[in-house]
Amino acid sequence: MIRKPLCFFLLLALFSKSFSQTVAQKSVQQKKMDDFVSNLLSKMTLDEKIGQLNLVSVGFDVTGPIVSKNVDENIRRGNVGGVFNTYTPVAVRKLQELAVNHTRLKIPLIFGYDVIHGHKTIFPIPLALASSWDMGMIQKSASIAAAEASADGLDWVFSPMVDIARDPRWGRIAEGAGEDTWLGSQIAKAMIRGYQGDNYDTTKVMACVKHFALYGAAEAGRDYNTVDMSERRMYQDYLPPYKAAIDAGAGSIMSSFNEINGVPATANKWLMTDLLRHQWGFKGFVATDYTAIDELMAHGMGKTQSDVAKLALDAGIDMDMVSEAYLANLKQLVKDGKIQVAQIDVACRRILEAKYKLGLFTDPYRYCNDERARQTIMKPAFLDAAREAAKRSIVLLKNNNHVLPLKAGGSIALVGPLADDRKDMIGPWSGAGDGDKAVSVMDGIKKLVGDNVQINYARGANILNDTGMIARLDQPKGTLTIDTRSEADMINEAVNAAKKSDIIVAVVGESAGMTGEAASRSNLNIPGNQEDLLKALKATGKPMVIVLMNGRPLTLNWENDNADAILETWFAGTEAGNAIADVLFGAYNPSAKITITFPQNVGQIPIYYSHKNTGRPYAGDFLDRYKSRYLDVSNDPLYPFGYGLSYTTFSYGDVKLSSSTIKPGELLHISTTVTNTGKYDGEEIVQLYTRQMVGTVTRPVEELKNFKKIFLKAGESQAVDFTITSADLRFYDINMKYTYEPGDFKAFIGTNSRDVKEADFKLLK
Ligand code: BGC
Repeated sequence: MIRKPLCFFLLLALFSKSFSQTVAQKSVQQKKMDDFVSNLLSKMTLDEKIGQLNLVSVGFDVTGPIVSKNVDENIRRGNVGGVFNTYTPVAVRKLQELAVNHTRLKIPLIFGYDVIHGHKTIFPIPLALASSWDMGMIQKSASIAAAEASADGLDWVFSPMVDIARDPRWGRIAEGAGEDTWLGSQIAKAMIRGYQGDNYDTTKVMACVKHFALYGAAEAGRDYNTVDMSERRMYQDYLPPYKAAIDAGAGSIMSSFNEINGVPATANKWLMTDLLRHQWGFKGFVATDYTAIDELMAHGMGKTQSDVAKLALDAGIDMDMVSEAYLANLKQLVKDGKIQVAQIDVACRRILEAKYKLGLFTDPYRYCNDERARQTIMKPAFLDAAREAAKRSIVLLKNNNHVLPLKAGGSIALVGPLADDRKDMIGPWSGAGDGDKAVSVMDGIKKLVGDNVQINYARGANILNDTGMIARLDQPKGTLTIDTRSEADMINEAVNAAKKSDIIVAVVGESAGMTGEAASRSNLNIPGNQEDLLKALKATGKPMVIVLMNGRPLTLNWENDNADAILETWFAGTEAGNAIADVLFGAYNPSAKITITFPQNVGQIPIYYSHKNTGRPYAGDFLDRYKSRYLDVSNDPLYPFGYGLSYTTFSYGDVKLSSSTIKPGELLHISTTVTNTGKYDGEEIVQLYTRQMVGTVTRPVEELKNFKKIFLKAGESQAVDFTITSADLRFYDINMKYTYEPGDFKAFIGTNSRDVKEADFKLLK
């Protein structure tokens, strides 16, 4: 028998041997790649090198004002390094053949695409997936997206978007993980792992982390707008998710459209070189966002395309998406002595390395396998995973008198413009997804309960009635479904359906196009006359369940006061209807929690849980005027960060600490007991927050540090234990040093950021 210490040392020896073997293998691989790329670079002309820096859009999916011209011809001439906005083995092979068979050095192209929440099997939008707090499932969604995309000719995805966002007016809030830095960083890592795996086997793709940086902090929530932010807030709150993605091995990064403190990201040398390369050691390549180099002129950074091409290259941008500013200007800039060939070599090397890592030099058609595409895309196991993800992303915001789950009997008035809708289900940025293949709520309910429930359907309203907004969003024509009957006729029909039914299920919200890029809103109510519809339905006196579809927090005061239940389903993807039916009828007990604060009104924005205390915090005395507060609305959100209900209820015991003091490096256990006090089995997301009471700089009133998602049978209790050390209490101190400070702390455990129990501890010197 081997004694314990001996066994430990043996294991340690084995581990360190295999660790040093892996390190050695890595450096052999690295050397092979360096030699290969150096050799290739030594053969390349300046034109060929510049060509590699050019990323063109073939234009069947346009996300900007311009599309690339003469793509085939430019590829043949060696003027293109990468292509996006095309896929399928056939289409990709056709362009790859041009590069491989017609250019002198046969350098393959890299093929990118906006695979954001699934490729063909569409998962819930990222803000929804985040609400699941389920890292395994989020990773799996990225892994399935990678499997489908890589089977469909693609090797590079423009995802994950890890921009912290605290302003729901910004339409792109739908594409990210919400407001929290720590949770956003965990999600960023999970996505990178899902997309890239360990070593880019053929079912994996290269990720492109975006939008570097701080894109989510656009002033007034208006897309592409200015960002001006203190260094402290940047480092503390906004930069960590990008860093987490890079540390997880992200292969590439996309520059953001916005300026940062006066210098647009695409021309920002501090950002792209000092921070990204020197401080963080990023080794992959940086691509711009769509026409971002050209846009530097509108930003007022240069008069000519040549000026801004130089700025971008000097800043550290490797690949030019769609501007063709590098292609048109770099050679002359070299001739004029304004830039060095060595700078172009650096950028070109990084792009060639990416192609090498993806195996494209070994087999340029590695991702063009028709048979694999047929067998992989939308296979039943992927659809099952999408349904599971959707169920786990749906948040129950209100449920009075257990109106949900619905009984599989009687009659339902199924009303609202999204009740029998397919194409909006897949949400914004669903690139290759096919809305017609999505499951509507109507279909989902019918499949689940069949003839047991009588459905009285009425559309009730259009999503929008603002003609200007309709004109902007209905591009191409037919994107929006518009019923031409009068508003009154449609509402009457819905009211009649309600009168005939036991209960109303109103499926209302935004259209997919109202969120995502260039979809900022200044009014966050449920749009159009859908609120009139809800009010008329309420007047029938029948119980009313609101099923919401939207890509951002909406202002829901009336709905919260008047609906019996509210289910936030976001845009839940291809399997939306099935998942929503599962939740409505209790085949799945909802467990998700919002990762973004829902405001009471737009005037409260930005509103987020990890705010500072101020010198005059409002403590509840209504008449006390000189406090940090509004005259016309309370400081409270409508729904706080981390909030979400279940069909069951959970009670929390007191917070227990293993000690009231810890020294640096020591473990502190923070625990509680959670009991399922209701009638259903269910999952609960138990959340741990801390607060540093005094610091060399002011500290937030709460910061999420960890969570556990636990399953409890009805009546069951479970002890939940978290551990933290001084390392978890680090922040950027008065000298911008990332460190911890001894002193008093509070630990909070709870079911959301508002409803917590607390205990005090001290971090000693
Ligand atoms: C968006 C990016 C996207 C790119 C390519 C841009 O307009 O900001 O997120 O990846 O287009 O489609």
